[in-house]
Amino acid sequence: MGKRVLVIGAGIAGLSAAGYLQRNGFDTEIFELHDKAGGLCTSWTRDGYSFDGCVHWLMGSGPASNLHELWKELGAADLRYVEWDVYTSARLSDGDTFNLYTDPDRLEAEILRLGPADGAVARLVAANVRRTSRLDMPAALDKLKPGAALALAARLPSALLLAPWIKKSVADLVRPVKSARLREGFERLFGDAMDELPAAALFMMLGFMAKKSSGYPIGGSLAFARALEADYLSRGGKIRYKSRVDEILVEGGRAVGLRGAWGSETADYVVSAADGYDTVKRLLGGRYPHPDLEASFADQGGPGAMKRYPSLIYLSLGLAADFSAQPHSQVFTLDEPLALEGGALGVKRFPLRLYHFDPTSAPAGKTAATVMVETGNDAYWTGLKAKDPAAYAAEKAETARKLIGALDRFVPGLAAAVETVDLATPATFIRYTNNWRGSYEGWLPTGGAMGKKIARTLPGLANFHMVGQWTNAGGGLPPCAIEGRRLAKRLCKAEGRRFRPD
Ligand SMILES: Cc1cc2nc3c(=O)[nH]c(=O)nc-3n(C[C@H](O)[C@H](O)[C@H](O)COP(=O)(O)OP(=O)(O)OC[C@H]3O[C@@H](n4cnc5c(N)ncnc54)[C@H](O)[C@@H]3O)c2cc1C
Repeated sequence: MGKRVLVIGAGIAGLSAAGYLQRNGFDTEIFELHDKAGGLCTSWTRDGYSFDGCVHWLMGSGPASNLHELWKELGAADLRYVEWDVYTSARLSDGDTFNLYTDPDRLEAEILRLGPADGAVARLVAANVRRTSRLDMPAALDKLKPGAALALAARLPSALLLAPWIKKSVADLVRPVKSARLREGFERLFGDAMDELPAAALFMMLGFMAKKSSGYPIGGSLAFARALEADYLSRGGKIRYKSRVDEILVEGGRAVGLRGAWGSETADYVVSAADGYDTVKRLLGGRYPHPDLEASFADQGGPGAMKRYPSLIYLSLGLAADFSAQPHSQVFTLDEPLALEGGALGVKRFPLRLYHFDPTSAPAGKTAATVMVETGNDAYWTGLKAKDPAAYAAEKAETARKLIGALDRFVPGLAAAVETVDLATPATFIRYTNNWRGSYEGWLPTGGAMGKKIARTLPGLANFHMVGQWTNAGGGLPPCAIEGRRLAKRLCKAEGRRFRPD
């Protein structure tokens, strides 16, 4: 057997890293605190409904991107994916709808429909979506087929034209818009995120959707995670569930194992695919500061700090009616903010997803639905839960009641159809994934963080590596696979082995 590698966390990063290492002759084992794989990439069942907690768009779902090769290697390419014609839509104040089409021609026409005088913006958006649809991820370069290197070189001008939009926000893109209706459409689609979301990220998302390689796996996010888990286990990998890690053991400046309530294990290498803050501050006791993350850990508003994705209030509804005539994804804007969290959170915009595109999500004739509301007030929920579990349960029920009431104004008949209600709070995210303050995706790609290089090793600590959303600004699933693959390559090199991806 090869060198022993212990991995913390069976999220997509842990499964990817362990998967690539296992097939390259390393003896790997994953320690996971939950009783199932997936981490944030998960779904759960209630009363015959399956509620999805993650994938809206999986880059690489279709074969038009080289990321697809990674998902193929990891065992997830055989799932059936739904690719979007309209990613989402926003209801305008006059009752009209702004559809975010993924086909650049249709998107251009839609922008022109709402803003006939805004041809320049329409053409600019469509041109950049076309450009990004021709681009790919440099991640899997060794998977390039013969001749593909030339094709990549031919894409260079597109990449260069896109580059300025990395620094500019969606608000910068929308600034020249003349039509009030079109402006309202963009504002309702993106809300406050518009000021910070890099326009390049929007183009990239739509570009991958345009080439039908950024969809949703039928069966949901847990089916996706389970495909990776099955592939890993079939190669001899091992996962210890309900096994929280409490300490990374270090001897003479080398990571040598893990310890938890379950005991301890030794290893030649330790990989943390768990929360970044917890890894550095608790599991390593803060003795090995992270070269790029300490400012962000210390003060979220401070100079040079990257901002964390907030946590979520996540409402799942089982609806005893067929809502397939409604769009699968819509964003609604209220005239008056809805007061949640004892009045501390005023919600003006909220998105509704209706999963009628996935027959596994609900019994025939019924519909699974989710609503996600961002919140930075994790302390409110964790405090309430710790202090008064009955008050916590009551607050969850009241929050669900308010959100259902608000939804009913936009989707008549929704409230009457509700037969199952499930509300996850930041306390739920922390309990099941241990992410820092319940964050749902690591570091935001805003304020220049997009593309920022974040160290995956710590000075003074040998044989230790970090992978996953906390070492890739912007988070998401593709970086988990990319990082896992890169790590396996690095360890193969260190051990004098030739890396093989499949
Ligand atoms: C609502 C929502 C929608 C999203 N939509 C998308 C999308 O459309 N596309 C996309 O690409 N991404 C999306 N994401 C983001 C994506 O899910 C995450 O970025 C990604 O799953 C992170 O994977 P990870 O393995 O790095 O971390 P995690 O999923 O957090 O996995 C870490 C794992 O480590 C375990 N763990 C933590 N601490 C310990 C410990 N001490 N001991 C043992 N185990 C431990 C956790 O239980 C967990 O299983 C979404 C996320 C959410 C919540």
